[in-house]
Amino acid sequence: MRYAVLSDVHANLEALTSVLDAAAEARTEKILCLGDLVGYGADPGGCLERLRAAGAVMVAGNHEHGCLGTLDLDWFNGAARAALEWTREQLSVGDLDALRRLPLHTTEGPCTLVHGTLRHPGRFEYLVDIAQAVDIARMCKTLFCLVGHTHVPCAIEYDRRGQRVGRVVTSGDAVTQMPFTDDPAGFCYVVNPGSVGQPRDGDPRASFLILDTTEHRLSIERVPYDVPAAQRKIREAGLPGFLADRLAAGR
Ligand code: ZN
Repeated sequence: MRYAVLSDVHANLEALTSVLDAAAEARTEKILCLGDLVGYGADPGGCLERLRAAGAVMVAGNHEHGCLGTLDLDWFNGAARAALEWTREQLSVGDLDALRRLPLHTTEGPCTLVHGTLRHPGRFEYLVDIAQAVDIARMCKTLFCLVGHTHVPCAIEYDRRGQRVGRVVTSGDAVTQMPFTDDPAGFCYVVNPGSVGQPRDGDPRASFLILDTTEHRLSIERVPYDVPAAQRKIREAGLPGFLADRLAAGR
């Protein structure tokens, strides 16, 4: 099976379209989406429609819960809050219902999907250090623990028997491919695909992950997209200009 793993689309339809095209070209068979489909960008309904039509398996992120009112808007910074209030007004009752039905974590084949960490899925913690990766690798029952939320891609191998961290791949590395051992009793791979719609690692291209369980290889892919079009829509919607500016910088 070849999976395309997407996270933090953030209502950026231009980025999502380019990523779905790249995923189709790579002959991926199933789409997994790690939350924060909405917020920041100008096309929340369009992005939800595309992913539902593609049969994506999805979990909820903090922006879904902010939009639904199940996470207090004080949790968010000013620009995020303004975008969430705008997003609420854009979505149909059916869209909001679809967001409400998304679980905080789920399992699909060899993958566990969660937006923040598996330790406290509803608290939306950022997975930023190796100790957290080890903690959730130990909790995780499947070969892969797929996380989003930081908008920065990375892959961490945990050796369950040796109780130690193996290879670590981050976006700064020249090599973004990593072979994996298909042994869920022996290994857990904690992988963040980066962000489709608002990358924050200095590379403005959309980021996603291809997980090939036949070739036993995972790779973080970067895809150029029409950044000016996404920026124009954000400005035309009256959303904070900073949300448009940062797309060009990938920060
Ligand atoms: Zn996000």
